[in-house]
Amino acid sequence: MERRALISASERLGKLPPYLFAELDRKRAAALKRGLDIIDFGIGDPDIPTPPEVVEACRKALSEPSYHRYPRNRGSDFFQDAVRRFLERDFGIRGDVEVTALIGSKEGIAHVPMVFCNRGDIVLVPNPGYPVYRASAILADAIPVDVPLLWENGFVPALERIPPEVLRQARVLFVNYPNNPTGAVLTREQMERIVRFARENNILLAVDNSYSHIRFDGLRPVSMLEVAGAEEVVLEFHSMSKTFNMTGWRVGFAVGARRLMAGFTGAKENIDSGVFTAVQAAAAAAMELPAEHIEGLLAVYRARREALTAGLQRLGWDVFQAPGTFYLWVRLPRGADSMAFAGKLVNRAGIMVTPGSGFGSWGEGYVRFALTVPEARIHQAVGRLEKMELYRNRLLRWLRKQEE
Ligand SMILES: *Cc1c(COP(=O)(O)O)cnc(C)c1O
Repeated sequence: MERRALISASERLGKLPPYLFAELDRKRAAALKRGLDIIDFGIGDPDIPTPPEVVEACRKALSEPSYHRYPRNRGSDFFQDAVRRFLERDFGIRGDVEVTALIGSKEGIAHVPMVFCNRGDIVLVPNPGYPVYRASAILADAIPVDVPLLWENGFVPALERIPPEVLRQARVLFVNYPNNPTGAVLTREQMERIVRFARENNILLAVDNSYSHIRFDGLRPVSMLEVAGAEEVVLEFHSMSKTFNMTGWRVGFAVGARRLMAGFTGAKENIDSGVFTAVQAAAAAAMELPAEHIEGLLAVYRARREALTAGLQRLGWDVFQAPGTFYLWVRLPRGADSMAFAGKLVNRAGIMVTPGSGFGSWGEGYVRFALTVPEARIHQAVGRLEKMELYRNRLLRWLRKQEE
């Protein structure tokens, strides 16, 4: 028999950026094995359980036989109604938009370039940013091009710096505010400028609003769809994950004008068969929770944010003062390698953070702390960092003495 070539993965997969955290995961595993107690600020996965009302709604829905069959692809009528009430109550959006259920907003985001790009089209991705934007462009044979987010611009995309030849080929711009990893939010004027940019250049604005409710400036959640003219260019992604502590449930939704949603839902119909209807029932219950839920959640994160910010600043760390998300974005001393720094924190202090380089080249020189750790542990972590600093200062003094 003739020998055939070995089966291998596509070239597309080979173009995905390497999994940067493998080395860090190994360090963490080794530290755990040595018996080190790890305080984990690494992954952005809420430690607070899903509200009991939501769990109960799902439990009830589980025994409904009609829910055991294939779900409605765009979501059941009760889910659609709950989303529309939620959009009107929290964002003031009503009227002629279409909604589709998602298996988490990540699923929707990952399908955007496949739906809107042809081979070689450009997808503009924020850097630093959620790695899915870049990966989804690569998997669609599109070309990801960075839009740097810089501290001195408040981590708002510098759209005016995008070269005209890139703009001509660009089909999609991803934006995400409140922003992971920096915590930045947009002003109304900045939102309007981004919508105008998308309209003028005929670019789909794929808005990742998964942290819509996690903001500490006392302002209400906002949607890009509130901006005049946005309906022609905006597809917005919402998630139950962070607002309702539901990362494990895998449910969110996309919203946008019928014309933009048509291709999107058409593609999805060929890929998945919707969200388990009992999970939709949980999501609907979540969206109907009273405002006290969000207020309670924000109070917890606010206390953690203040404790960690104060602690780090006391040690002279450079924390970006941003009003959104449950992350702290921290600038390292000039020239520091974020991966090496994060490795050192695990080894020396048992503290896990995410190196900024994991979010793209412009994230180098930063680390991200996720505030998904109880306050007592935050104080403990600051204490450990303090000891590290003392150690470092002693070492520096000793080195200086040697030089004298
Ligand atoms: C967590 C997160 C998501 C994904 O949320 P799911 O709805 O759980 O898929 C999307 N975007 C950003 C920036 C996130 O941090």
